[in-house]
Amino acid sequence: MELSNRQEQIIQIVKDNGPITGENIADQLNLTRATLRPDLAILTMAGFLDARPRVGYFFTGKTGSELFTEKLKKFKVDEYQSRPIVVEEDVSVYDAICAMFLEDVGTLFVTDQHSFLTGVLSRKDLLRASIGNQDLTSVPVHIIMTRMPNITVCEPDDLLLDAAQKLIEKQIDGLPVVQPSEEGMKVVGRLTKTNITKALVELARDQHL
Ligand code: ADP
Repeated sequence: MELSNRQEQIIQIVKDNGPITGENIADQLNLTRATLRPDLAILTMAGFLDARPRVGYFFTGKTGSELFTEKLKKFKVDEYQSRPIVVEEDVSVYDAICAMFLEDVGTLFVTDQHSFLTGVLSRKDLLRASIGNQDLTSVPVHIIMTRMPNITVCEPDDLLLDAAQKLIEKQIDGLPVVQPSEEGMKVVGRLTKTNITKALVELARDQHL
């Protein structure tokens, strides 16, 4: 994160003199305690400083990149997942292509009549099906989809980093976020490379202090 000059100065003072009270830091900078309050709050929330009651501020010794990694490792899938776009197994390839355009997504999830996950359709699955001579309105998606049990999934409480690892290992663009039960997996979300990119940008821009 980008620190202001004053924040850099505060860190230096705390490094040299910590533990030190807010009052004393303010004195050294010829500022009031109230003026410093927002900076101290930011530095504490960001993890550069720690505060102990009746002792004062001290330097945690963590670098910017250590703090970045620490935060990234706490992100959960459900904080970043998108709405899943789902079609039923007997929907035609033609209708699935329409759904993909209308919903503006790159991956569709396929479910049975009980809404349990049975497959995944990617852009290329639909393209592949479209280059033959078949009538796309009469081919159901279950013929061409990637099907269970070969679907890679994640759960809302999983770490975002673990889900990202799955996307890389399997070389795919998205994962269904599922709630597993005895009978099957209910699709509750969609986690894509875009969601992970958003999380990284948010973190780098400090919106996740
Ligand atoms: P595209 O094929 O449009 O590049 P992907 O790389 O996501 O998109 O998909 C590659 C293949 O992997 C497709 O055949 C697709 O059905 C399959 N696939 C996509 N997502 C998953 C998943 N979560 N689990 C298993 N297979 C998947």
